[in-house]
Amino acid sequence: MISVLINGIIVAVNSVSEKTALWAKVLAKIEEEVIDSAVFHTFFEGSYINKIEGDQIEIVTSTRVAKSVLESRYSELLNDVVKEVFQSEYVLVIKTEDQVVSKTDESIEEKPKFFADSRLHSEYTFKNFVIGASNTEAYQASLMVSADPGKTFNPLLIYSNSGLGKTHLLNAIGNNIKETNPNTKVLYTSAADFIDEYIKFARGNTDNESLSAWFKSNVDVFLVDDIQFLIGRPKTMEMFFLVFQSLYERRKQIVMTSDQHPNQLQGLDDRLKTRFISGLTLSIQPPDPVTSEGILKSRIVTHGLDLADFDDDVIPFLAGKFSSSVRELEEALNRLLFYTINIKQTKHISLDLAKEAIQGLIKVQDDQGKLTPQRIIAVVADYYNISVNQITGKIRTSQIALARHITMYLMRSLLEEPLTKIGSYLGGKDHTTVINGIQKVEKELKNNTQMQEAIKELRKRLGAN
Ligand code: ADP
Ligand code: MG
Repeated sequence: MISVLINGIIVAVNSVSEKTALWAKVLAKIEEEVIDSAVFHTFFEGSYINKIEGDQIEIVTSTRVAKSVLESRYSELLNDVVKEVFQSEYVLVIKTEDQVVSKTDESIEEKPKFFADSRLHSEYTFKNFVIGASNTEAYQASLMVSADPGKTFNPLLIYSNSGLGKTHLLNAIGNNIKETNPNTKVLYTSAADFIDEYIKFARGNTDNESLSAWFKSNVDVFLVDDIQFLIGRPKTMEMFFLVFQSLYERRKQIVMTSDQHPNQLQGLDDRLKTRFISGLTLSIQPPDPVTSEGILKSRIVTHGLDLADFDDDVIPFLAGKFSSSVRELEEALNRLLFYTINIKQTKHISLDLAKEAIQGLIKVQDDQGKLTPQRIIAVVADYYNISVNQITGKIRTSQIALARHITMYLMRSLLEEPLTKIGSYLGGKDHTTVINGIQKVEKELKNNTQMQEAIKELRKRLGAN
């Protein structure tokens, strides 16, 4: 029987579950150390301990490439972490699956299914999209594309600041196509999810064919949200290029959104830039007051409320205060409705009541100069299109982990918060986790243009240049 000393206690390692638990600890530590989460996912994930014999631990990796990467580049790190976790020195022997002779479990791994979680948001339709001068072109182009996929503007690319309706239109296109033609295979995904799928694919399979092959048989209409997230991911961009070309050549409709014009996306592969703007590229502007009022009215009606209960000056007041983004506008209205229904318990909404209800939000606007940890979290969450709870929570997709590290870094560099405090703002992370996160960002900042751009943009949004 093999025993290891853990925290001063001798533990027998004789079962699969114990080996698995120890290896999970090793991997968790390594994940903290490895700067690029793609490296971790590609080469470390999926490895396991096959056996522990004498002073040897036999580790099995998913692919031959992973084996040679671990041996050549990460053996020192592996040795250190194993020593720390097992509290004793072992010789590590790395093997690939087919080198392990005594393969007991012959279960065949399922073929990867890509984008299993991608769904269209059915609540975003053309019907509930309010048209105004700021978004007419984007709306019309979207409508045309959905009426005749692949035949009019291909690709269609819509760009704007956040909260102005890109995700809404992209889903409206998909929903409309599905409604008129249920057999059309529509894939709606964000570029961030594309990255995760690519990583998943690269981990199990080094043959670049299969993800594009999957697209060949599963996608007629490709709707990609927030392509700016591809920046700084050369391998993913390469794959995206292959997928894009293959769809385009077969006249499949591609619609993309971005937070900036592709030419402004520094670090985006030039070939992609050229392709992206080869169809039709349109922007959405912040809504003018008339459109904002229209959006508010439509929202009030969909909430089942009566416009007659609102004094005439309430809607123009809200529209005037919150028109830099539709998302803000909606937030203000929701706040007002919550306040009137739950706190004041009145049906009649006067200007004074509206002012009172949204006081907090205006204060947030007025406080824009003031940096707080909460604001950093909110701004980073908005930038990465994830929720505040995801940043402070425990789930780690590559996108969420990245956002979390950046939040740590910004809290440290802009607010000079102590590490333990940063950890507590982020849902109780310990201070080593925080240090690791900050260091990852600092390292990446040296030569990763995507990271440099992200930090630059976030500092700008936080008013800290
Ligand atoms: P983006 O993707 O550009 O960040 P979203 O599409 O997520 O923005 O829009 C933010 C919110 O505002 C969503 O709830 C969306 O339904 C709403 N919205 C944006 N533009 C309009 C519009 N013209 N009419 C109705 N709702 C809109
Ligand atoms: Mg969006």
